[in-house]
Amino acid sequence: EAITIQELANRMAERAVDVIKLLMKQGQMLKINDVIDADTAELIAEEMGHTVKRVSEADVEEGLFSIEDTTEHLKPRPPVVTIMGHVDHGKTSLLDAIRNSKVVTGEAGGITQHIGAYQIEQDGQKITFIDTPGHAAFSQMRARGAKSTDIVILVVAADDGVMPQTKEAIAHAKAADVPIIIAINKIDKEGSDPNRVRTELLSEELVTESMGGDVIDVEVSAKSGQNLDKLLEMIILQSEVLELQANPDRTAEGIVIEAQLDRGRGPVATVLVQKGTLKPGDILVAGAEWGRVRAMLDEDGKQVKEAPPSKPVEVLGFQGTPEAGDMVAVVENEARAREIVEYRQRQIREKASVVASGSRGSLEQMMNRLQETGKKEFPLVLKGDVQGSTEAIVHALNELGTDEVSARILLSGVGGITESDVTLAAASKAPIVGFNVRANKQAREAAQRDGIEIRYYNVIYDLVDDVKAAMSGLLSPER
Ligand code: GDP
Repeated sequence: EAITIQELANRMAERAVDVIKLLMKQGQMLKINDVIDADTAELIAEEMGHTVKRVSEADVEEGLFSIEDTTEHLKPRPPVVTIMGHVDHGKTSLLDAIRNSKVVTGEAGGITQHIGAYQIEQDGQKITFIDTPGHAAFSQMRARGAKSTDIVILVVAADDGVMPQTKEAIAHAKAADVPIIIAINKIDKEGSDPNRVRTELLSEELVTESMGGDVIDVEVSAKSGQNLDKLLEMIILQSEVLELQANPDRTAEGIVIEAQLDRGRGPVATVLVQKGTLKPGDILVAGAEWGRVRAMLDEDGKQVKEAPPSKPVEVLGFQGTPEAGDMVAVVENEARAREIVEYRQRQIREKASVVASGSRGSLEQMMNRLQETGKKEFPLVLKGDVQGSTEAIVHALNELGTDEVSARILLSGVGGITESDVTLAAASKAPIVGFNVRANKQAREAAQRDGIEIRYYNVIYDLVDDVKAAMSGLLSPER
């Protein structure tokens, strides 16, 4: 726990400059936004004549997301689906086609809106689609600790096959442990070759059913609408296997899918309810913002009176604009909401002023976490200069595995380290290792921001040796 000098001064109702002077007397030259630890803060406060009552701020967080539902309260809930795939393979077209095919014709008042997610009904079964395709948003949410998706639809154009972003999407879905359904798209096109897609997917360790595996694949055309029903059936089938459940009879929890400040309506956030049922009048906290639900609208702009699990709704009534990926929870009253939000806003300020030094995604941290959690996997993102060397490294790292711990390579690829690599790494709190490649500027900035360590090597042996050392808890200090 740490606090900025400004914050400490505020809490004591003293002038920051007096705090700085006192610290200076004790030999510490600090500025107003510098962070001091709780012990120092306590001493300073006492020096200045204040009685210190330490509040365990962790208490504020505790209990908010930790209430688990007992099985007897669980009821089936609709699946939440994200569409991923290479650019131009038809993600947006597919989302639009599915949505349009389900629009109830002749219904009055319905104006199709983009709110970040929508829900359709197929044979009486609901399915929720996240309306922002691609893996960037998906992994950004995951990096913030939120699980937004139950099933990934991987779109691969039958006339183009597996492309770089197809592979990235696979890596993101696998890292999140989310099952994949393959939509082989554009089968209406001349020159489309669905079997080529299936064969190429074999190299990505996705073995479709017709190839003897268990990955579901459906040939579709977003353009003609062919087989869209079949795709939806497969989603329902897959979700039955997953036995998705939630307790609808409790205060709501969920996640922010999208949020913006609307000129007329104020802050607007699309909330995907994950547990419980959200209702107008509820007081909720989303990240570092809170609000009272003034109104809830669905994707057709219609007022909704209650939003059960897996239902996305646009929520009006926030005091400020939360961020996509923020966790949402209904709390008992406004005072509690304010308390949590104040705590979180303070944390954000403090975090901003603490220099991010090799925080979560570093080899050392990884080792500590392994020991804490007793977890057996050591996640890594690997980028190399040529196929041959990356393959050799992957092989060597896989060989390192023991009964206790093994390397889990989230992505191994050829080429420089990009921001997308960092997003993937951050979502799993994994370090990145580069072999004869560097990170570009965006990637370096993202890594700095997210506290992801990037290590560079030009000798395979050194790389493998460091990972081995990290895995066995013997890592030497960074060189
Ligand atoms: P995204 O980048 O993955 O979202 O791809 P889009 O949905 O924007 O589609 C890229 C292009 O492919 C557009 O010109 C679409 O009209 C076209 N397209 C998408 N699906 C199909 C399809 O099933 N058949 C054909 N012929 N064209 C398609």
